[in-house]
Amino acid sequence: MKTYRPILFVLSIVLAGVAFFIWSAWKDRLRARDSQQWLSHNNDVIKALDSVQILITSKESAVRGYTITGDYVFIAHLPNYNKIIRSSLEQASRLLADNPQQVVRLQQLRQLLHEKEQFQQLIVHARKVSYDSAMQLTASLKGKNIMDRISVVLEQMKADQQKLLGASIVRNQEAGHQSVQTAIIGALMVLVFIIILLVRLNRDILLRRKAEEELQKSETRYRQFVENAGVITYTADIQGNFTFISQQVKALTGYSPEELLGKHFSVLIPPDWIPKVAEKYRQQFVNRIRETTLIFPIQFKNNGTRWVEQDVILLDKDGRVQGFQCVVKDVTEQELVRQKLQKIEEEQKEYQYRIQAILDNAPLIIYVKDLQGRYLLVNRQFRQIFGLTDEMVIGKTVADIDGKESSTERYIAADRQVIETRKPVELEDVLHLPDGDHHLLTIKFPLFDQDNQLLGVSGFMKDITEMVKSRQDMIAARQKAETAEALQEQFLANMSHEIRTPMNGIIGMTSLLMQTPLQQHQQEYVQMIKQSSDNLLVLINDILDLSKIKAGKISIEKIPFHLEEIIKTLNTAFRIKASEKKLSFSTLLHPAVPHHLTGDPHRLSQILTNLLSNAIKFTEHGYVTLEINVQEQAPRRVVLCFQVSDSGIGIDEKQLPLIFESFSQASSDTTRRFGGTGLGLAITKRLVELQRGSVHVTSKPGVGTTFSISLPFGISTEKEVVHGGEKPAAESHTREDYTGKHVLIVEDNEVNQRVLEYNLQQYNLTVSVVGNGKEAIQWLKKNTTHLVLMDLHMPLMDGFQATDYIRRQLKLTVPIVVLTASVLRNEKQRCLQIGANDYVAKPFAPEELQRCLEKYLLSRKEAVDDQQAVITAEADHPVFDISMLLQINDSKVIGEIYRVFENTVPSGLEELKQLSIKEDWEAVYELAHKLKSSLGIIRVKDLHAKMAAIENNARTQKKLQDVLPMINESIAAYYHVAPMIKMEIDKENVAHR
Ligand code: ADP
Repeated sequence: MKTYRPILFVLSIVLAGVAFFIWSAWKDRLRARDSQQWLSHNNDVIKALDSVQILITSKESAVRGYTITGDYVFIAHLPNYNKIIRSSLEQASRLLADNPQQVVRLQQLRQLLHEKEQFQQLIVHARKVSYDSAMQLTASLKGKNIMDRISVVLEQMKADQQKLLGASIVRNQEAGHQSVQTAIIGALMVLVFIIILLVRLNRDILLRRKAEEELQKSETRYRQFVENAGVITYTADIQGNFTFISQQVKALTGYSPEELLGKHFSVLIPPDWIPKVAEKYRQQFVNRIRETTLIFPIQFKNNGTRWVEQDVILLDKDGRVQGFQCVVKDVTEQELVRQKLQKIEEEQKEYQYRIQAILDNAPLIIYVKDLQGRYLLVNRQFRQIFGLTDEMVIGKTVADIDGKESSTERYIAADRQVIETRKPVELEDVLHLPDGDHHLLTIKFPLFDQDNQLLGVSGFMKDITEMVKSRQDMIAARQKAETAEALQEQFLANMSHEIRTPMNGIIGMTSLLMQTPLQQHQQEYVQMIKQSSDNLLVLINDILDLSKIKAGKISIEKIPFHLEEIIKTLNTAFRIKASEKKLSFSTLLHPAVPHHLTGDPHRLSQILTNLLSNAIKFTEHGYVTLEINVQEQAPRRVVLCFQVSDSGIGIDEKQLPLIFESFSQASSDTTRRFGGTGLGLAITKRLVELQRGSVHVTSKPGVGTTFSISLPFGISTEKEVVHGGEKPAAESHTREDYTGKHVLIVEDNEVNQRVLEYNLQQYNLTVSVVGNGKEAIQWLKKNTTHLVLMDLHMPLMDGFQATDYIRRQLKLTVPIVVLTASVLRNEKQRCLQIGANDYVAKPFAPEELQRCLEKYLLSRKEAVDDQQAVITAEADHPVFDISMLLQINDSKVIGEIYRVFENTVPSGLEELKQLSIKEDWEAVYELAHKLKSSLGIIRVKDLHAKMAAIENNARTQKKLQDVLPMINESIAAYYHVAPMIKMEIDKENVAHR
């Protein structure tokens, strides 16, 4: 269309030009005709005027001839002249009717002609009379006068006409000029038009020639192709019968043209295809479709099939279809390839459909992106959760879809990480969607093709909103539980303190009271008080034990011990109790049982005590036995079986499963008859299980009961076992004389102050009492003592703070024994950590107190008594080793070395702690190294090894998180042993003195 615009433009201009040309030519013709008319008009006028002049002159001459001659011949035609003059005037007046000036002149002329006529008639009449009178009239010049005036008018008129004629000629000439110009312009336009037409024509001709050439070429090509490719051409009539077939048909079908001529085309087509093919050509015929193409199979004469492509053109003659012109070519190869491709494509589609179905039904958001981050595929969950359609997603990047979402950056970074590392990446995020916040866990992973080339990134997203919610709930619940637990722990500590403190007073005072002279009945009363308070204490201890176990606050120790010692103690205690009830009591320790074990001796004691107490309690006649046997043995481990049997009342079969429940007793009258709370077995069972053991019971009412306990232990060497550390309470000592020794009691409860005071005074000790930690410090600043007994829970300053202050600020190494009514799991640990030497639970047994006094006030005496024994014992000390130092035989040197130790180690450890808090590992490494050397001579258990570990961790920058705890442990260990070491050194000095 565009290319025709200039042509249309030119054409319209040309048309306009031609129109103008025609119009102006027509105008010229009009003008020319006009001026032509004018010309002849003027000529006619002039001719008429001339004729009038000539006739007047002729009339004058005739009148003169008659005047002179008197011959009538001269005037015979006068009437004719007049007639002609009149008609000429008529003509002139007709021609000049539209020229007013000329009309006036014509009027003058008529007047003059009339006068002339009359004068001539006068002359003629006069001549008839006489020649002279006529001559006289002629000579009067009247005639000449009229004649002159006529000539003047006529000349004027002619001159006017001549002028008009001249103008008309000029106009005529102009019109001639104009029409020439118009003709030239018109001719030029026509010329341009013709040139354009010619150019176009030329181009069309060229194009046509080119098209023709191409057609010819393609025809040639086609013909060549047809000839070479073995294309069959044939014609068929409208029924589909062959009317002509080319020779090539034989090669394709096995039939010769002759065999097929006249037959229906369907003979060549497999039966199942015939309807389809026939329908196709019926349609072509009915709808007069000029040309069609169809691919279908044909049959070989001898049973083969080929695929052909058939082009069919309708043959029509005079608008009537005569038949079909067909070209057939073999496309078997292409068709088979195409079918194969189609099958593959269909399979792929099916495959893709299946994958999509799987992806859509997976309970995950799934997507695949290319390396540029454009989505290639997303599943239904993706579309649903994000509220997007395929059109909004496919081919787009995250930034395209939602560049505003703050997490977009993170997602893009994660994609990049997957592409760079070729490893999966996991991230958790919160998406703000219309229906609320969704927590999504995304796992992105790389996709590889067969050649291990990175294809893209795929992602699975799981909506973990529910999970996160329940996780948060769980955290909240745990926090609540922890808070509750902490409260429970606090409550337990308080309860324990509150109950045991007065119990301590009651028991202590009762003991003291019993030692005073009393009357018989008073002694009985006091005895009853003692028994009741003992029972109460057992009950309190049971309840606290159970609560501790239930709260998971009991930790099982793993220390070396002598099994024999425990059995001996139990034997002593229960032999007495059994004999009180006239029962026989025996213990049997099987020879195969190893004597040195590691485990928890206290808990074992407690378990066996429980079982033996019950056995004695529920037996009226007969025996109670304790038998210990090996159940399993390995080189370093052993499982022992403890059997407590009695010949007592036994337990009903139905009750057996219940006896291990808290507060449960076999029969309701048990309490009435035997007392008890039903807690003992519950505690026993739990303690056994805490040690990974098991309890078993067999019983027969009226015959007896056997409790069997299996417990695993480690086997220790004799050397590891601490001697004397845990001396059995029952093993009573003769009371030592501590004359000259001083003990400081730090205790807020006045009753307990008194109990302690009285107790200690029995050992001839001097005692000072202060009410809290602050007072203790004040006291210690001014005085010295040999032992501090420190309560933990006190107002103003508690035992922890006071102990810490004594060790760190006052730098005193005086032994401190903590007395506490608390049962908290780590309290003992804490006491030792801050530098206390020992720990005694309240209410304490007098034996326990005695043990402490022996341990911390007697050692010097023993050292003097048996120097050698002490040295050996200390060399084997499980907590520290100063044997190297003791090899130096100069006590002064030993003292100096110790002072250096005392001055450098605690401050060094403190500095180490600060450095590790600052994470200055280089400095930590150097200082730890230095301290390790200092600790080489006075070896504190573990401290040397700990320094080595700290040094190593700091140097290699590994496990740095362990360093600070190790330093804290080292500090605690130091303060724990420092007083002991000091004591040893002092002893040494005494010995050397
Ligand atoms: P307590 O002895 O304080 O009642 P225990 O938990 O120690 O509580 O024992 C629970 C119950 O099991 C006892 O009340 C008693 O009925 C039964 N029982 C325990 N040991 C024996 C035994 N050796 N002979 C008979 N009955 C026993």
